[in-house]
Amino acid sequence: MANRRRRTSVYGAAALTFGAGLAVTAILFVAVSALEYGKLELGFQQRANVRVAAIRRGLDDAVEVLSMTNQLFRTVAPVSREQFHTFTEPLVLRYPFIQAFNYHRVVPLAERAAYEASMRPRYPGFTITELSESGIATAQQRDFYNVVDYLEPLEGNEIALGLNAGSNPSVRKAVDRILRTGRPAATALIQLAQGSVGNRGFVMIMPVYRPGAPTETYEERRAAWIGDTAAVIRGHHLVYTILQNNGLLDDPQVMLRVYAGDARDADNLVFSHGVQNEPESIFEGLHRVLGLNYRDRDLRKFDVLGTSWSVRIDALPRPFLDDHLGSLGTLLGGILFSLLSAVLVHTLVMRSRRVQLLVDARTADLQRSNERLNADVAARKHTERALQDSEQRFRRLLALSSDWYWEQDSQYRFTNITGAFFEKGHLTKENYIGRTRWESYPEMLNTKWGREHMARLQARLPFSNLEYSIVGNDGVTRWFTTSGEPVYDAQGNFKGYRGTGSEITGRKLAEQRIQHIAHHDVLTGLPNRMLLQDRLQQAIAYANRSGHPLWVMLIDLDRFKFVNDSLGHKAGDLLLKTVATRLQSSVRESDTVARLSGDEFVAILSEYPDESLSPAIVERVMKALAQPVMLEGKEFFVTCSIGVAVYEADGTPAQHLIEHADIAMYSAKKRGRNCFQFYQPAMNEEAQERIRIESALRNALERNEFVLHYQPQVDMETGRIIGMEALLRWQHPELGMVPPARFIGLAEETGLIVPIGAWVLRTACMQAKTWHDAGFSGLRVGVNLSARQFGQQNLVASIAGVLAESGLPPSALEIELTESLFMNDVAQAVSLLHELKALGVALAIDDFGTGYSSFSYLRNFPIDVLKIDRSFVSDIATDADDAAIIISIIALAHNLNLRVIAEGVESEEQLEFLRRHGCDEMQGYYFSRPVAPPEFEQMLQEGKQLDGGQPALLRA
Ligand code: C2E
Ligand code: CA
Ligand code: CA
Repeated sequence: MANRRRRTSVYGAAALTFGAGLAVTAILFVAVSALEYGKLELGFQQRANVRVAAIRRGLDDAVEVLSMTNQLFRTVAPVSREQFHTFTEPLVLRYPFIQAFNYHRVVPLAERAAYEASMRPRYPGFTITELSESGIATAQQRDFYNVVDYLEPLEGNEIALGLNAGSNPSVRKAVDRILRTGRPAATALIQLAQGSVGNRGFVMIMPVYRPGAPTETYEERRAAWIGDTAAVIRGHHLVYTILQNNGLLDDPQVMLRVYAGDARDADNLVFSHGVQNEPESIFEGLHRVLGLNYRDRDLRKFDVLGTSWSVRIDALPRPFLDDHLGSLGTLLGGILFSLLSAVLVHTLVMRSRRVQLLVDARTADLQRSNERLNADVAARKHTERALQDSEQRFRRLLALSSDWYWEQDSQYRFTNITGAFFEKGHLTKENYIGRTRWESYPEMLNTKWGREHMARLQARLPFSNLEYSIVGNDGVTRWFTTSGEPVYDAQGNFKGYRGTGSEITGRKLAEQRIQHIAHHDVLTGLPNRMLLQDRLQQAIAYANRSGHPLWVMLIDLDRFKFVNDSLGHKAGDLLLKTVATRLQSSVRESDTVARLSGDEFVAILSEYPDESLSPAIVERVMKALAQPVMLEGKEFFVTCSIGVAVYEADGTPAQHLIEHADIAMYSAKKRGRNCFQFYQPAMNEEAQERIRIESALRNALERNEFVLHYQPQVDMETGRIIGMEALLRWQHPELGMVPPARFIGLAEETGLIVPIGAWVLRTACMQAKTWHDAGFSGLRVGVNLSARQFGQQNLVASIAGVLAESGLPPSALEIELTESLFMNDVAQAVSLLHELKALGVALAIDDFGTGYSSFSYLRNFPIDVLKIDRSFVSDIATDADDAAIIISIIALAHNLNLRVIAEGVESEEQLEFLRRHGCDEMQGYYFSRPVAPPEFEQMLQEGKQLDGGQPALLRA
């Protein structure tokens, strides 16, 4: 729709332009045409003027000549024929168009005869003639005659001589006019008497009056008129000559007609030149229509001696283009120009339209891109805001986190470090900004981590948790950690590094503490087993380097367990601390003293050039430790056993040094404590065996290598077997029967005692149940419980389970515990014992007397039996103290309603002693060694009894 309108307007503009162009062209064409016609007319007028003027001049000349002739008659009277001839002859020569000069004499009728007579002498036969229809004839009788008297030149004009000019009507009219007006006159065109027909001309006549006569009025003039002078003029000749002489006949474009007389007809046509034949052209017609005042013909009138002359001049048509080149050019040019303008306008409009369309399209594009830009700007603003937010958050977080942010240039020089770093570190900003890390921290160049860090930077790698310490302006060393990453610009050029840092002094110190704790014994502050290994490696390395030997000393306190058990943990701890201090001060400062475990210490002694190692050092240590220690107000004497392993820097393996020292220490202990032993390879064999046993022990249970032996327990009063202790035996295919002493400890250490113990309990209960079922009901079975088992969570439940499974009445089970089991946590032990007791089982304290030596706790424990340790029994005969202890134990037990059973009764003597002091039961070789179940069953079947056992009745 809009397009169509636009298209119309496009053509409209072109059409309008074309129309306007045409209008202008038309106006221009008219104007130029007008100019052209103006010019043409002017030229034509000019030509006409020139020609008319020339003709008039010629006629004036003729009049002038006539006047001169007439003047002759006025001044010379009378004028002779000869005079007339003389006077006119040159004029005739000069003006060839003058046919003749005449003097017409007025001859009244009365004087006709006389006159004719006077003429005849000169012109024989002379008579007055006149023109008639038949030609010239003798004049008829008239009142007067106006006779051609003088005639010059006569030659050729003879016929006119004597002619009554008045017979010619034109002449008569002219004469009449002269007399009436008093002025000369000319005739109309007349056929001249002279020459051929068609020799036409006219006569100019001037009157000649009688000298002196008045000529004011017609009558006077009529009266005074005696004749007249006339010039016969050949009209055509006259005009032709004039025009010819003036070169005015050469112009072919001018048609000229000269008429003498009022009517412009053939009769009056004096002269004609040029031909008009072309019809009016369209252009002329157009011009006429347009009202252009163009005249191409002109009529000029003038008076020649009373005769009206007219000259009609016609412009002959010329080649149209000659005169109208301008207008035509204008017209064509205008049309062409209009056309071109229209085309141009059209083109321009089209172009402007295209431009407009383009502008529209661009505008739309622009609008779209503007919208996009707006969207972009909005998005960017959003992003900027988000960025600001995140920046703000980043800064807040930085501020809150107490971390800092840093930037380095491509030369790793710090360009920016946020303030926290300087505040936290008490550092001066100028020492860091503009410098590399190693410029402000030159130690880096000499350290491994420093060089590694620099290598990472060279490789443009990110780094994290680079830790370093700096001493601040306040002299405090602080620790820092930093992480960074390389920065590249959009072109991928390396711009430097940036990262964050934080102070980690607190963490570092904690770490150091943890490190210390991890490597040191909490109680004594000595290096622990871990640090010991480290120190040992260093010492070995030193020994290898220096070639000097190295000693590893293992110190184990004698009877520390006794102190701990009897005086409590606090005293034990104090003792250990004291020992640690003494050990440290008894060796050189460079030597390491470490706590290995419980009451075991290790000292590493390196040999130095100035002081070689000797047994004296070991003795010095022992001596230092042997000093009395004050514990709870009492003096205690501590002894130790020391094993020493020597590392000769001769390439002997170093990894077993502590083991060897341990072996040597065991050896020292075996020798009777408070002494030291140097490790010898032989000692190692025992240790080796332990290791062999340990590995074999792991498979023993599943290989069914365990068996239980049973040792009878006998009632002292009746002498009968009332129960048995289950004792574990290990039948190893290679080692043979391994006694418990050799593997129970190991089984405890390794934890294997737990499954083994469970097996023992189950087997013993089943066996007891079997014997019950076999008729020996009432038999009680004692099962040893190790410390490891006692600590088991599900101990009570598993015992209950075994009882339920085997069907053994709980009262038939007696669980043997050692005092040390429940000395660590008495309260817990008490509750556990109550739980066990609740099951209905009996509880016995095994090896009684070797431990606490304190009876006070027995009161609180739900115990049923005390088993007097074998060591007291064996010394009954020799040691009065032990005998006294046994007596007091029995008394105490009975006091607490406990049964007492003596272990390891081997002799009659011992048995008697025990019996005498009221011991309830006995167990020992004296009655029976522990035996395999079949043998035990045999004893039961046989009804084996204690010899010498006195019936209860007797005793009572
Ligand atoms: P214990 O509980 O004190 O066991 C008594 C030990 O004394 C047994 O040694 C036994 O053979 C021995 N014995 C008995 N009468 C005499 C005697 O008249 N003279 C001498 N010299 N010794 C006698 P055994 O069987 O070698 O057991 C040693 C230790 O191994 C036991 O000491 C006990 O602590 C432990 N043990 C044995 N079997 C088990 C077990 O099944 N579980 C646990 N946890 N420990 C066990
Ligand atoms: Ca026992
Ligand atoms: Ca025992």
